[in-house]
Amino acid sequence: MRILVVEDERRMAELLRRGLTEEGHQVSVARTGTEGLELALASPFDVIVLDVMLPQMDGLTVTRRLREKRNQTPVLMLTARDGASDIVAGLDCGADDYLTKPFAFDIFLARLRAVSRRGAIPRPAVLEVADVRLEPGARRVTRGGVEIPLTPREYSLLELLMRNTGRVISRDSILESVWGHGSDVHENTIEAFVRLLRLKVDTREPKLIHTVRGIGYMLREPDQVREH
Ligand code: CA
Repeated sequence: MRILVVEDERRMAELLRRGLTEEGHQVSVARTGTEGLELALASPFDVIVLDVMLPQMDGLTVTRRLREKRNQTPVLMLTARDGASDIVAGLDCGADDYLTKPFAFDIFLARLRAVSRRGAIPRPAVLEVADVRLEPGARRVTRGGVEIPLTPREYSLLELLMRNTGRVISRDSILESVWGHGSDVHENTIEAFVRLLRLKVDTREPKLIHTVRGIGYMLREPDQVREH
């Protein structure tokens, strides 16, 4: 296999390069996130082994950029111990699997084989409500097949609503998941964001985003509306 290793720690990079070469693979090594992304986009690889903590551009951003460019090369992410949030973020960004450092080399090889076998398949986790389609891997949103450009906050808000289709999401939940715990954001700001999101996503009938007075917002399939 052609394998790209993106790892800034010299010893780890050398260990992986040597071990993989001994297994008969062709290995390229990049030392920074930027270099890794350039290499990954410049030539085809069967697998990318990607460290999360990297200079210039972290592994999460590298994965997101790759997927944005429709590059579906399988990514095996290497995360530091206790990097639980890295793992979730990494998989959300479009990584295929992860391995926590330190790891045994034979386990690394097994994971690598599993990830590469899955091949360059499109991300399966697509959210669909009516004709709105959200692809978490690529952070891409379309309605009726037409791409809708969203800011990161608008995207997070829509993803939150779509992951909870048919359920009321309180303003507090929106605040916490879109702006982060303990953020000092006025209710008007949330309203303004919902308004912006509606203008981009929900201008045509049937309307999907509904205000639940005094509580928050809900996104519903059109046939759920009649119950109201
Ligand atoms: Ca590192």
